[in-house]
Amino acid sequence: MSDAYLEERHHQLRAQVRAFAELKVAPRVADMEHTGAVETELATAIAQQGWIGVTIDRAYGGMGAGHLAKTIIIEELSRISGAMGTVAQASQLGVAKIIHFGSERQKRIWLPKIASGSCLPTIAVTEPEAGSHVLGMQMTARRDGRHYVLNGCKIHIGNSHIGDIHGVIARTSEGSQGLTAFLVEADRPGLTLPPPRRTLGLHGFSFGELHFTDCRIPVGNRLGREGEGLDVAYSSSVLYGRPNLAAVALGIHQAILEQTTAFASERVRYGKQLHHLPNIKIKIGQIQSRVMTARLVAYHAAHLLDSVGKDQASPDCGSQLESTLPNTGAGCDAELMNAKLINVELVLDSVRTAMEIHAAAGLMDDIPIGRYLRDAHHIFAPAGTSDIQLLRLAEAALGQSKGQWSQRLSAALSPRPGPAPPL
Ligand SMILES: Cc1cc2nc3c(=O)[nH]c(=O)nc-3n(C[C@H](O)[C@H](O)[C@H](O)COP(=O)(O)OP(=O)(O)OC[C@H]3O[C@@H](n4cnc5c(N)ncnc54)[C@H](O)[C@@H]3O)c2cc1C
Repeated sequence: MSDAYLEERHHQLRAQVRAFAELKVAPRVADMEHTGAVETELATAIAQQGWIGVTIDRAYGGMGAGHLAKTIIIEELSRISGAMGTVAQASQLGVAKIIHFGSERQKRIWLPKIASGSCLPTIAVTEPEAGSHVLGMQMTARRDGRHYVLNGCKIHIGNSHIGDIHGVIARTSEGSQGLTAFLVEADRPGLTLPPPRRTLGLHGFSFGELHFTDCRIPVGNRLGREGEGLDVAYSSSVLYGRPNLAAVALGIHQAILEQTTAFASERVRYGKQLHHLPNIKIKIGQIQSRVMTARLVAYHAAHLLDSVGKDQASPDCGSQLESTLPNTGAGCDAELMNAKLINVELVLDSVRTAMEIHAAAGLMDDIPIGRYLRDAHHIFAPAGTSDIQLLRLAEAALGQSKGQWSQRLSAALSPRPGPAPPL
């Protein structure tokens, strides 16, 4: 059923990304696992495919291919390496704020560079005292003439050590209207990065700290208006972060299924392949069922996201499935949250099942199941833990949601045809 969402161009894209991942990424995985070093070269090669610009309008040099295409890119990279899938998702997440809140000038400067792979963006929201509680943020941006002066610290920032342009949220005044977003070039004086720390999983991916000490940036680097920082953070997280992380989980989940079926077919017990044991067969059925469910909710949410803004989409970007699949036109924030929730929870369930099937063999480094287990745990916190998704879903059920980002930003969600207007 999930294939019903895909057009020929999606199948072609999948084949292209899969070939790249198997040829270029797979040979690097063992080394990334062993050293844990930040993998810059491969990240650059991925960006140079144009895949970070998958949702960027063609008018700005992007692929203009939409959110379902983005899901497939991340899924296929993550199937081979959760770390490299996460490199792509974190940079695509960094694109969102420029598409949604950038001025025409900022879009003309940054989007073509990102689309060509010469510039990797990030989004930096989390602080030591402010994870889920974004309003607990303490980093400040003080206006000083034609500049802002940034002071504070960000942690767990995806692509921290390879990002070229950081999207930083900081406090310009008190309260929920007191946050503002800025674009900060990685080489700005006053921005320093401590060495990345060794992490449980996603070896090769950096999600480290950014330290700002009297870091001066021009007023022209402000993204949106003063006071819109919370909107920038939330909209990026809902519209890009959640489906992106669902896609990372999906790719890892598919890899778990493939590894486990291969293992149960090769391993001999009682003179037969392991999968002849009925409990092993049932466990494989459980993993298969979870992958199918997870893929369905991920593709459904991405398809709806592509549909929401399709009034502005170019004709050749429109779905061929419009007559058969629903376009609710009513927003899809809840579906995006659910995609993240279901994909994370199910991959964590499946990796435990897979470990049980592998038994002692799963603990050996030459079998990747331990890597999948470690990587899957990294997908739990970003863009909101499962409890946070459940709280937001409960608010939707109770009619307590304060509007939907997918509706509010629908005009910016789909690629538009034609050249960009002059500066
Ligand atoms: C791989 C990875 C990549 C990341 N990338 C980025 C990035 O690019 N940019 C960025 O800014 N950040 C990034 N993060 C940070 C991520 O956004 C935070 O980890 C996340 O927001 C959760 O914050 P926290 O870890 O501080 O947990 P906390 O917010 O401290 O939560 C701790 C526990 O309390 C629970 N909890 C918190 N609030 C509530 C509540 N209101 N009600 C009930 N329970 C609650 C949580 O569910 C959790 O169980 C990344 C993290 C990881 C692991």
